[in-house]
Amino acid sequence: MSSSNSRFLYGIFPEVNMKRCHGDFLINQILTTHGCYPVHPHRIFGKSADCEYGRDQGTVSHYVYECQIYREVRQKYFPKNLFQLGILELILNTRAKIGLKIIIQDILTKSLAGVESSS
Ligand SMILES: [Zn+2]
Repeated sequence: MSSSNSRFLYGIFPEVNMKRCHGDFLINQILTTHGCYPVHPHRIFGKSADCEYGRDQGTVSHYVYECQIYREVRQKYFPKNLFQLGILELILNTRAKIGLKIIIQDILTKSLAGVESSS
């Protein structure tokens, strides 16, 4: 695990055992940051690290808190005080967790299909 990933996990789990299992593949994509996000392939393959909208880096927090692609998912599933909540608090929120899974599933599907921005 790289030191930047360690810092990311420490931010989510400041006091919690990192081996704690959430038993959920999609949620684990967030917790490990080893998933399908553009930022990670960028490190390995030198692909663009931008999200397909091309405005920002495709990081977990970008997709969850900012990305225009998932604006409707945020409105539908995430609490109004989203921006005061951390990722872990969203995971522990039953409804927000559904929204997170929708976002992750979508990113994963696009990633596996090799979709890249053409604009
Ligand atoms: Zn975006």
